[in-house]
Amino acid sequence: MRRVSIFGATGSIGQSTIDLIARTPEAYDVVALTGGRNIARLADDAVRLGAELAVTAHDELLDDLRAALVGTGTEAAAGESALIEAAVRPADWVMSAIVGAAGLRPGLKALEQGGTLALANKESLVTAGPLLMEVARAHGATVLPVDSEHSAIFQALVGEDMSAVERIIITASGGAFRDWPLADLERATVKEASRHPNWAMGQRITIDSASMFNKALEIIETHEFFGIAPERIEVLVHPESLVHALVGFRDGALMAHLGVSDMRHAIGYALNWPAREALPVGRLDLAGIGQLNFRHPDEARYPALRLAREVMARGGLSGAVFNAAKEATLDGFIAGRIGFTGMAGVVEAVLERIGSNEGLIDANMTLDNIRAADHVARSLADEEMRERAA
Ligand code: NAD
Ligand code: MG
Repeated sequence: MRRVSIFGATGSIGQSTIDLIARTPEAYDVVALTGGRNIARLADDAVRLGAELAVTAHDELLDDLRAALVGTGTEAAAGESALIEAAVRPADWVMSAIVGAAGLRPGLKALEQGGTLALANKESLVTAGPLLMEVARAHGATVLPVDSEHSAIFQALVGEDMSAVERIIITASGGAFRDWPLADLERATVKEASRHPNWAMGQRITIDSASMFNKALEIIETHEFFGIAPERIEVLVHPESLVHALVGFRDGALMAHLGVSDMRHAIGYALNWPAREALPVGRLDLAGIGQLNFRHPDEARYPALRLAREVMARGGLSGAVFNAAKEATLDGFIAGRIGFTGMAGVVEAVLERIGSNEGLIDANMTLDNIRAADHVARSLADEEMRERAA
């Protein structure tokens, strides 16, 4: 029996992970599930899977969670320290699917236990890639990518030597507004930005797909995870979302990964790795699809891509700043404080204001320094949004 834990179990990735695990419950011992405000779902899944521990991120919901779990044999806990407690419970395989920088600490703690971390939480690589990979190395832990593009790259690299890799191409659907005239984007609403043409995902990543902040995070994720130079990473808009990534080798060969837009593929690959097991995902009918399209992204439409390149060039804690500024600005968009096209300007202003602060950006990559950089970035983003609203 494999001991597994799922951080962010109540979210989109968490639920897809549970869907896979629940198909062969005899194969898994579920250690901990964590969630947020959806106590009913967290408790139901914890009981159904026989989890040892269920954790809500919110202290004030502990009584509700306790009430839902009374007499079930699943322990209830709440708050940031309980998330860490969940992370230190020995498990062979841990899904990191909390959204945002909040996923970093539990992920690091899980790596310290030396098991396998299936990493959906790309923000932890953007925020602290070198630290995360170093902790994994130091504890003999394994990090497996779950983002669809990165799982695709990982699969295309099986049996290959990184030194033979010339370039990596990640694809982007273009998100909700890919066919909108540029001038209309200014008035795009939260509701419109929350409808993805090809993937069903959590709201935050869906909006990030429309702005391509998601792709910006993924360029950095590619750089951090695979250790490839920024200039060797390319992005192509591919509206069908069927080719997830391509790896180009020095002999000119391109290895592409294709599959339906279902995250259970990447999750299942990480769950069964290094084996491949049957998965309940659709099969591609290429003749039925007929054609696949690719084009270069329009940088005027997607300034986030340029910002990602600037962050990689700056290095240090600028990834933490970028991610935190992005998160705060996304909160601002969802709350109606800033328009859709205003987001990139806020993030850019924060990067500019902090970029010259060497004490902050070039500080050692420790959790305390990351937290400080994150904090400053969020308050500057807040200030920038306030100024723009005035
Ligand atoms: P989601 O919003 O559907 O779920 C997020 C989960 O994190 C929930 O369980 C929520 O309760 C929990 N959570 C939120 N804030 C928290 C906090 N501060 N502390 C602790 N827990 C918290 O998100 P999602 O779409 O499942 O995405 C999860 C992660 O996977 C993100 O990093 C995202 O970028 C990445 N990802 C998602 C997809 C996808 O298809 N949904 C694809 C690729 C990568
Ligand atoms: Mg992705």
